[in-house]
Amino acid sequence: MIDGAGRILEKEVLLKEDILKLLSAEGEERKVLFTKASETKAKQVGKKVYYRGLVEFSNVCGKNCYYCGIRRDNKNLKRYNLGNKEILDAVKFAYDNRYASIVLQSGEIESPGFTDRIEELLREIKKISNNELGITISLGEQTKDVYRRWFDAGAHRYLLRIETSNPELYKKIHPGDGRHDFNRRIECLQSLKDIGYQTGTGVMIGLPFQTMNDIADDILFMRDFDIDMIGLGPYIEHKDTPLFQYRDKIMPPSERFSLTLKVIALLRIIMKDINIAAATAMQAIDPMGREKALMAGANVIMPNITPGKYRDSYKLYENKPCTDEEAEDCTNCLEARIHMTGDEIGYGERGDSKHYARRRGKGGTGG
Ligand code: SAM
Ligand code: SF4
Repeated sequence: MIDGAGRILEKEVLLKEDILKLLSAEGEERKVLFTKASETKAKQVGKKVYYRGLVEFSNVCGKNCYYCGIRRDNKNLKRYNLGNKEILDAVKFAYDNRYASIVLQSGEIESPGFTDRIEELLREIKKISNNELGITISLGEQTKDVYRRWFDAGAHRYLLRIETSNPELYKKIHPGDGRHDFNRRIECLQSLKDIGYQTGTGVMIGLPFQTMNDIADDILFMRDFDIDMIGLGPYIEHKDTPLFQYRDKIMPPSERFSLTLKVIALLRIIMKDINIAAATAMQAIDPMGREKALMAGANVIMPNITPGKYRDSYKLYENKPCTDEEAEDCTNCLEARIHMTGDEIGYGERGDSKHYARRRGKGGTGG
């Protein structure tokens, strides 16, 4: 490296060429990057981890993304759709265990029936938690009207990954059937922001055909879109998907993992007070993956609280961890792991995005 990582990180604003250099940092240079990210995290958002209990309530999906194991055309899995009672029981578990926030995620369905159901569920969740639980939803692309209805019903964070900020690459990893349009994804993100959601996005790292230049652009995209939360992780191949045929052409898992850590560190340094989730996909590659992500700058973890018997059917990729566990098992094992990183768990705290509060001129931790 011509200019050392330390020198680059002294700059007020990082240029694309700086980001590219830091993405290739190894050895001592890499350590310098992680140390700076860890300092930034402690200073900007504190050494605290916030929980979001994740309910993957249905794997029924109307879309056909080339990378995803629950894509519509994959016939090698059992489709499920949790009943409202099962969802509310899981939510109750989160509330009783002082998780303070939950995430509802599923395959993408656009229909009036689905819209009504989610709206009702959101109101119910607010009711059973005394209006206290923070609610993130991640239900794909919808109309602005639908996003607004769900916001009014109580959801206040939305996670919609852009997957890649390169429109050409986006085309390569999605079918060209008119239902997988890059511009619509951007419009959706803009609608979410306009409505007032804490808006989250992210990308997959190590996709077939993806270059370092793309990843540097992804970081700049998230900065320029002024995003509040990030959920990103390594791409992991799944044998029943079209992208599996390129498995020999992608980086080995350890490199995808290491690169993801560097992207997290860079985003923490560049965007300072955003929330960054340590994605489950990190743990699929490295048993200590999520803990390493916390040390690289992440501050949110999404323990899976989906009833155990359904977890095996929400396999987006191979080696998805903890699919044979129940929520209680996760809680105990996670707590011990997080303490090892030197962070503490913000039990009972919603941990809303400080970036959002600042962006909206509220200055506190509200939202
Ligand atoms: N259907 C909604 C959507 O696509 O926004 C939410 C659920 S979707 C399963 C959540 C995320 O899973 C996607 O945004 C994608 O980044 C990630 N994902 C899907 N397949 C993956 C894979 N093979 N490796 C890593 N992440 C994957
Ligand atoms: Fe469906 Fe989301 Fe998977 Fe795409 S990534 S196939 S929209 S669940």
